[in-house]
Amino acid sequence: MFFYISSGCATSKSNISDRLSDNQQIVTEVGYVTKKSDCDTLVITCIDYRFVSGNQGFINETLGLKDDYDHISIPGSILNLLNPETRDLVLSKFSLSVRLHLVKRIVIISHKDCGEYGGSASFASELAEHEILCADLRKARYLFLEKYPTLKVSLFLESSVPEGNETKVHFEKILLVVPFQQV
Ligand SMILES: [Zn+2]
Repeated sequence: MFFYISSGCATSKSNISDRLSDNQQIVTEVGYVTKKSDCDTLVITCIDYRFVSGNQGFINETLGLKDDYDHISIPGSILNLLNPETRDLVLSKFSLSVRLHLVKRIVIISHKDCGEYGGSASFASELAEHEILCADLRKARYLFLEKYPTLKVSLFLESSVPEGNETKVHFEKILLVVPFQQV
Protein backbone atom coordinates (compact mmCIF):
# COMPACT_ATOMS: atom_id res chain seq x y z
CA MET A 1 0.00 0.00 0.00
CA PHE A 2 1.43 3.36 -0.98
CA PHE A 3 0.61 6.92 0.01
CA TYR A 4 2.04 10.08 -1.49
CA ILE A 5 2.35 13.33 0.40
CA SER A 6 3.73 16.44 -1.27
CA SER A 7 6.12 18.52 0.75
CA GLY A 8 7.79 21.73 -0.32
CA CYS A 9 10.47 23.92 1.17
CA ALA A 10 9.50 26.63 3.62
CA THR A 11 8.93 29.79 1.61
CA SER A 12 10.20 32.32 4.15
CA LYS A 13 13.04 31.60 6.52
CA SER A 14 14.46 35.12 6.61
CA ASN A 15 12.88 36.15 9.92
CA ILE A 16 13.32 32.93 11.85
CA SER A 17 16.11 34.27 14.08
CA ASP A 18 13.96 37.32 14.86
CA ARG A 19 11.01 35.12 15.71
CA LEU A 20 13.10 32.96 18.03
CA SER A 21 14.92 35.79 19.82
CA ASP A 22 14.58 36.03 23.59
CA ASN A 23 13.16 39.53 23.80
CA GLN A 24 9.92 38.78 22.03
CA GLN A 25 6.72 37.32 23.31
CA ILE A 26 4.98 35.09 20.84
CA VAL A 27 1.40 34.03 21.41
CA THR A 28 -0.02 31.31 19.24
CA GLU A 29 -3.48 29.86 19.53
CA VAL A 30 -4.07 26.27 18.52
CA GLY A 31 -7.51 24.71 18.81
CA TYR A 32 -8.03 21.09 19.67
CA VAL A 33 -10.72 18.86 21.12
CA THR A 34 -10.44 18.44 24.92
CA LYS A 35 -13.17 15.90 25.56
CA LYS A 36 -10.85 13.17 26.80
CA SER A 37 -7.58 12.65 28.61
CA ASP A 38 -6.20 9.79 26.55
CA CYS A 39 -5.37 9.36 22.90
CA ASP A 40 -5.57 6.63 20.30
CA THR A 41 -2.04 6.22 19.00
CA LEU A 42 1.65 6.67 19.68
CA VAL A 43 3.52 7.69 16.53
CA ILE A 44 7.28 7.19 16.40
CA THR A 45 9.37 8.89 13.72
CA CYS A 46 12.91 10.03 13.06
CA ILE A 47 13.73 13.70 13.69
CA ASP A 48 14.75 14.31 10.06
CA TYR A 49 13.46 17.74 8.94
CA ARG A 50 12.94 16.52 5.38
CA PHE A 51 10.00 14.41 6.50
CA VAL A 52 8.34 16.59 9.12
CA SER A 53 5.71 18.18 6.85
CA GLY A 54 5.04 14.91 5.06
CA ASN A 55 4.67 13.07 8.35
CA GLN A 56 2.18 15.59 9.70
CA GLY A 57 0.03 15.35 6.58
CA PHE A 58 0.22 11.58 6.57
CA ILE A 59 -0.62 11.21 10.27
CA ASN A 60 -3.31 13.90 10.43
CA GLU A 61 -5.05 13.39 7.12
CA THR A 62 -4.19 10.00 5.62
CA LEU A 63 -4.33 8.08 8.91
CA GLY A 64 -7.02 10.42 10.33
CA LEU A 65 -5.29 10.80 13.69
CA LYS A 66 -5.38 14.60 14.04
CA ASP A 67 -5.38 15.62 17.74
CA ASP A 68 -5.50 11.95 18.75
CA TYR A 69 -1.86 10.86 18.97
CA ASP A 70 1.35 11.26 20.92
CA HIS A 71 4.34 11.88 18.69
CA ILE A 72 7.89 10.95 19.66
CA SER A 73 10.72 11.82 17.29
CA ILE A 74 14.17 10.38 17.91
CA PRO A 75 17.13 10.07 15.55
CA GLY A 76 16.82 6.85 13.59
CA SER A 77 13.21 6.28 14.69
CA ILE A 78 13.32 2.84 16.37
CA LEU A 79 17.06 2.20 15.87
CA ASN A 80 17.83 2.98 19.53
CA LEU A 81 15.05 0.63 20.58
CA LEU A 82 16.80 -2.18 18.74
CA ASN A 83 20.14 -1.43 20.39
CA PRO A 84 20.27 -3.48 23.65
CA GLU A 85 22.40 -0.74 25.27
CA THR A 86 19.76 1.97 24.82
CA ARG A 87 16.62 -0.16 24.65
CA ASP A 88 15.45 0.21 28.24
CA LEU A 89 15.81 3.99 28.23
CA VAL A 90 13.98 4.40 24.94
CA LEU A 91 11.29 1.89 25.88
CA SER A 92 10.67 3.72 29.16
CA LYS A 93 9.95 6.93 27.24
CA PHE A 94 7.66 5.15 24.82
CA SER A 95 5.94 3.44 27.72
CA LEU A 96 4.90 6.76 29.23
CA SER A 97 2.55 7.24 26.32
CA VAL A 98 1.10 3.77 26.79
CA ARG A 99 0.59 4.22 30.54
CA LEU A 100 -0.47 7.85 30.73
CA HIS A 101 -2.48 8.23 27.54
CA LEU A 102 -3.63 4.63 27.21
CA VAL A 103 -2.79 4.40 23.55
CA LYS A 104 -4.28 1.44 21.72
CA ARG A 105 -1.86 1.32 18.82
CA ILE A 106 1.61 2.30 17.77
CA VAL A 107 2.54 3.60 14.35
CA ILE A 108 6.25 3.38 13.56
CA ILE A 109 7.61 5.29 10.60
CA SER A 110 11.19 4.80 9.47
CA HIS A 111 12.71 6.44 6.44
CA LYS A 112 15.28 5.71 3.76
CA ASP A 113 18.56 7.66 3.66
CA CYS A 114 18.49 7.99 7.46
CA GLY A 115 21.59 9.63 8.89
CA GLU A 116 21.44 7.45 12.00
CA TYR A 117 22.00 4.45 9.72
CA GLY A 118 24.76 6.28 7.82
CA GLY A 119 22.49 7.24 4.91
CA SER A 120 21.57 5.20 1.85
CA ALA A 121 25.24 5.07 0.83
CA SER A 122 26.02 2.80 3.75
CA PHE A 123 23.92 -0.01 2.28
CA ALA A 124 25.11 -2.34 -0.45
CA SER A 125 22.09 -1.59 -2.63
CA GLU A 126 18.66 0.02 -2.61
CA LEU A 127 17.13 -3.40 -2.11
CA ALA A 128 19.45 -4.11 0.84
CA GLU A 129 18.47 -0.82 2.47
CA HIS A 130 14.79 -1.62 2.02
CA GLU A 131 15.14 -5.13 3.45
CA ILE A 132 17.19 -4.04 6.47
CA LEU A 133 14.87 -1.17 7.35
CA CYS A 134 11.84 -3.45 7.01
CA ALA A 135 13.51 -6.08 9.18
CA ASP A 136 14.26 -3.45 11.84
CA LEU A 137 10.65 -2.27 11.79
CA ARG A 138 9.45 -5.84 12.34
CA LYS A 139 11.93 -6.33 15.19
CA ALA A 140 10.68 -3.15 16.84
CA ARG A 141 7.09 -4.37 16.53
CA TYR A 142 8.09 -7.65 18.15
CA LEU A 143 9.73 -5.81 21.08
CA PHE A 144 6.61 -3.73 21.65
CA LEU A 145 4.33 -6.76 21.48
CA GLU A 146 6.54 -8.57 23.97
CA LYS A 147 5.87 -5.80 26.49
CA TYR A 148 2.35 -4.83 25.40
CA PRO A 149 0.73 -7.83 23.67
CA THR A 150 -2.66 -6.16 23.23
CA LEU A 151 -1.34 -3.17 21.29
CA LYS A 152 -1.68 -2.96 17.53
CA VAL A 153 1.54 -1.95 15.80
CA SER A 154 1.59 -0.62 12.24
CA LEU A 155 4.77 -0.14 10.24
CA PHE A 156 5.59 2.34 7.49
CA LEU A 157 8.72 3.11 5.50
CA GLU A 158 8.99 6.53 3.89
CA SER A 159 11.29 7.98 1.28
CA SER A 160 11.61 11.36 -0.40
CA VAL A 161 11.14 11.29 -4.15
CA PRO A 162 12.06 14.36 -6.27
CA GLU A 163 9.41 15.20 -8.85
CA GLY A 164 10.14 18.32 -10.89
CA ASN A 165 10.51 21.30 -8.56
CA GLU A 166 9.00 19.59 -5.57
CA THR A 167 9.69 16.59 -3.44
CA LYS A 168 7.09 13.99 -2.60
CA VAL A 169 7.22 11.78 0.44
CA HIS A 170 6.30 8.22 -0.37
CA PHE A 171 4.88 6.04 2.44
CA GLU A 172 4.95 2.28 2.08
CA LYS A 173 2.96 0.12 4.49
CA ILE A 174 5.20 -2.71 5.60
CA LEU A 175 3.76 -6.18 5.93
CA LEU A 176 3.98 -7.48 9.49
CA VAL A 177 5.57 -10.75 8.40
CA VAL A 178 8.09 -11.40 5.68
CA PRO A 179 6.11 -12.22 2.52
CA PHE A 180 6.53 -15.63 0.95
CA GLN A 181 9.07 -15.46 -1.84
CA GLN A 182 8.71 -17.78 -4.79
CA VAL A 183 11.85 -19.49 -6.01
ZN1 LIG B 1 16.53 9.58 10.13
